[in-house]
Amino acid sequence: REKVQIMNADEMRRVITRIAHEILERNAGTDDLVIIGIRRRGVPLARRIAEKIKEIEGTSVPFGTLDITLYRDDLSQLDYHPLVRKTEVPFSITKKRVILVDDVLFTGRTARAALDALVDLGRPEFIQLAVLIDRGHRELPIRADFVGKNVPTSRREVINVNLQEVDGEDKVTIAEK
Ligand code: 5GP
Ligand code: MG
Repeated sequence: REKVQIMNADEMRRVITRIAHEILERNAGTDDLVIIGIRRRGVPLARRIAEKIKEIEGTSVPFGTLDITLYRDDLSQLDYHPLVRKTEVPFSITKKRVILVDDVLFTGRTARAALDALVDLGRPEFIQLAVLIDRGHRELPIRADFVGKNVPTSRREVINVNLQEVDGEDKVTIAEK
């Protein structure tokens, strides 16, 4: 099926810059800030946001990752279960302002699993969610605090996020499954 491009490399760069600025504005700087990316593509996105924050503020924020696998046959399946496979958070998140980063927000089940894993690790001051694409269709009361682009989709559509670090180029496309 035909793929329609909804974000190019320049747009992605600007979106990441904006989200970095929004995070800093909302939190009045980098005090107690930590960034955690959800594998796979949430991780390079989180790294880029952390790098941009470093560029803007001159401060390195602690960086961690969560590996969450979705068990389901395909993205249209309603009943799938995200499983937290691995947490690499080599610092305490207690009393920290945690920025969780993922590429696409859909039903909210992955974010929910990530929140469960994070509160098991410690007692953050709060957790905020940043996503590159919000494609709608939430099944849980979860929303993103920072959104690169809202893309209304049908359940039959799928968003393809391509990142330089993983896919060799930066772009987002949408296609019918
Ligand atoms: P949710 O758990 O909110 O239903 O889905 C979010 C997770 O599944 C994210 O980690 C994201 O990577 C993946 N995901 C869900 N829908 C899509 C989609 O349309 N495109 C891509 N690239 N990933 C998706
Ligand atoms: Mg994912």
